[in-house]
Amino acid sequence: MAPASDAPAAPPRRRKKPKIGITRQLFATLREHFATGATSLADFAKLIAEGLGADASLIYVARPGEILELAATHGLNVSAVGRTRLRVGEGIVGLAAASGDIQNLPDVQNHPRYVYRAETGEETMASMLAVPVKRAGRTLGVIGVMGREVRPYTPMEVESLATVAMLLAEILSRAGATDVAEEGFSETLPRRFAGHVLSAGIVRGRVLAYGAAAPIAKLLTEDTEAELARLDAAVEEANKTLDGLLTANMPGGNASRDVLEAYRMVAQSSGWLSQVRAAIADGLTAETAVDKVARQLRERMRRIADPYLRERLADIEDMINRLMVALGGMPPKPERADGMILIVRRLGPADLLDWHSRGIAGLAIEEASASGHAAILARALSIPALQVERGAVETAAEGDLALLDAEEGTLVLRPEPEVIQVYERALAARQQRAAALAGYRDMPAVTKDGTELKLMLNVGLALELDELERTGADGIGLYRTEIAALAAGGIPDVAGQAAEYGKVMDRAQGRPVLFRTLDLGADKLLPGETAQAEENPAMGWRSLRIGLDRPAILRRQLRALLLGAQGRPLRVMFPMVATVEEFRAARDLLEAEAGRIRPAPERLEAGTMLEIPALLFQLPGLLAEADFVSIGTNDLMQFLFAADRGTPELADRYDTLSAPVLEMLEKLVGYSQEAGVPLSVCGEAAGRPLDALAFAALGVTTLSMSGSAILAVKAALVEADLSALRPVLRELRRAGAAGGSIREPLAVWAREHNLAI
Ligand code: PEP
Ligand code: MG
Repeated sequence: MAPASDAPAAPPRRRKKPKIGITRQLFATLREHFATGATSLADFAKLIAEGLGADASLIYVARPGEILELAATHGLNVSAVGRTRLRVGEGIVGLAAASGDIQNLPDVQNHPRYVYRAETGEETMASMLAVPVKRAGRTLGVIGVMGREVRPYTPMEVESLATVAMLLAEILSRAGATDVAEEGFSETLPRRFAGHVLSAGIVRGRVLAYGAAAPIAKLLTEDTEAELARLDAAVEEANKTLDGLLTANMPGGNASRDVLEAYRMVAQSSGWLSQVRAAIADGLTAETAVDKVARQLRERMRRIADPYLRERLADIEDMINRLMVALGGMPPKPERADGMILIVRRLGPADLLDWHSRGIAGLAIEEASASGHAAILARALSIPALQVERGAVETAAEGDLALLDAEEGTLVLRPEPEVIQVYERALAARQQRAAALAGYRDMPAVTKDGTELKLMLNVGLALELDELERTGADGIGLYRTEIAALAAGGIPDVAGQAAEYGKVMDRAQGRPVLFRTLDLGADKLLPGETAQAEENPAMGWRSLRIGLDRPAILRRQLRALLLGAQGRPLRVMFPMVATVEEFRAARDLLEAEAGRIRPAPERLEAGTMLEIPALLFQLPGLLAEADFVSIGTNDLMQFLFAADRGTPELADRYDTLSAPVLEMLEKLVGYSQEAGVPLSVCGEAAGRPLDALAFAALGVTTLSMSGSAILAVKAALVEADLSALRPVLRELRRAGAAGGSIREPLAVWAREHNLAI
């Protein structure tokens, strides 16, 4: 953007109105006009321009075929109304509609995306604020204001126009407005949506599209007291239903209860409720105010990369849905939903349990993460669940037939008969396979050539400890302590942590547990912490770096681990170690704490994750001091290839089964064997049977993975002859030495040898 001084000379103008109280004043005027029942879009445009003290206002409405048409203006040429049209994506208005983001431009004419339309007479304007008008995920238009002065709009002005956009959305939707993405035939044709598996399984059923909110009956109010009382009553009602869920019998024992208790803490926190109250005080009805805060939350959620934080916000939205039902702004849930596939934008844990009790058979969620609450509970309840790409909610119609393939990661709406047949066969095969895999539970993980392997569990929440029994895992190869802290909304005190770690050891019944110290920081923030302004938070001041710079928290955790162990052997692993000195400093803290705690652990081991490439070049020094090392392929891959692990576009770009990674692994195995230091792999790759095969062939004997992967990995390994695989691997690596992946040819070899990969 050009600096303000380069802009066309426009005389500085005084703003027409003070900024304070814009919203309340504007709503009061709008309310008076609505009361007469004769408010046209032109009136609306005028009120906005005057209410916000803008030189011009404009309202674009979506027309079929991804077109936005100027429907009203105040301050620009009225003759352009009905004539000026922009495609979605064209100009600033089109950009707001396409991106769904507010455009706040001090100097719009110099913006690269600006498109000049002479008939509007907007050449005298400099600044522009454009807000998409959205309702229930549909973009119905764009509302904007313009000014002659080059300046950005203040947060209060942005917030006011965003609220006005919300009111306009209600008005347009009542008038039967179209969505910009309308496709005509889309409601009858089959549609496929790609997805990520949250909880594995395949299910066929009818669509349940709950949550497409009904229009709000009344938007504005004079009687704020009465609306605040309605809100309080609704909060009480919503709390009651939540209490009912918490006291009902739940799957997975106490662990599920922990998840829900954590949810309750977040959902009932007063921060967002006070925002709702403030919006009512501005003149909105209770349901409009709740809707407004929900929109702001969704907007925030879209910008947050961290899955755990997004999940906290999803918890709040779950509560918001309850409030909307209590306020009559949403229809109540159907009594029964047996065998149906629920397709929703977001889902909190309490709602998931609620739907489970109504009988849903599958779940497609647009905004969810595999490590989130909803996914954890879906796995505990064995409900197949997918995180699907956006658009599914809009495209699915209640009662449509759907296939949810939470194996491959696809949701098919209105499938053709041939597709249904294919899935029925897949379903039958899956049932057979699950029964066959269960048979591997008690089988030792020994390959055909006699190599003994240890298959361990990665655990985040207590809920996943049940997997120890189900899978017959050899122990916990990675206990991510920060996850419980994030789910609980804070780090428990020493006694609370010690109790948690003690319970984990109890459940492990003597099997080894590698406790990883808190891997917090960057964007994995606990509530109340503010983000550091870092350009690359994944490489920022996080994890052990914070632990060493501010040792109080780390020391407390180490104390809790020692107390929780109660004399049993204790293994502590440090994350994000970049230098031997860092490892040594962390281990010294552990030993200092250990000197003070009685009973002392029978054996105390300190190890490190290998996630930062620099550590690979300090192996002799490191291995002389570490009791064990574990390769975190998730972070190691991201730092090795400089490829953010959370960026979907890069997800399949670099492969663990490629020359540089395999070479690195081979060297690591060699060094660790020479030093006699146990080495394991605990990143996601360890849970993929083909990768696990290759790692085992390179000499990795301990693999740690999520519970859902263990039996499948074991099934592939016990049938494999690693001594036959090794020369093949060498040959493939030699042939593909250019850095390419050997995944394809290795998979061919595995299939030829009847290995289930
Ligand atoms: C890893 O980085 O591979 C790892 C196991 O740790 P996390 O996924 O928790 O960062
Ligand atoms: Mg990591």
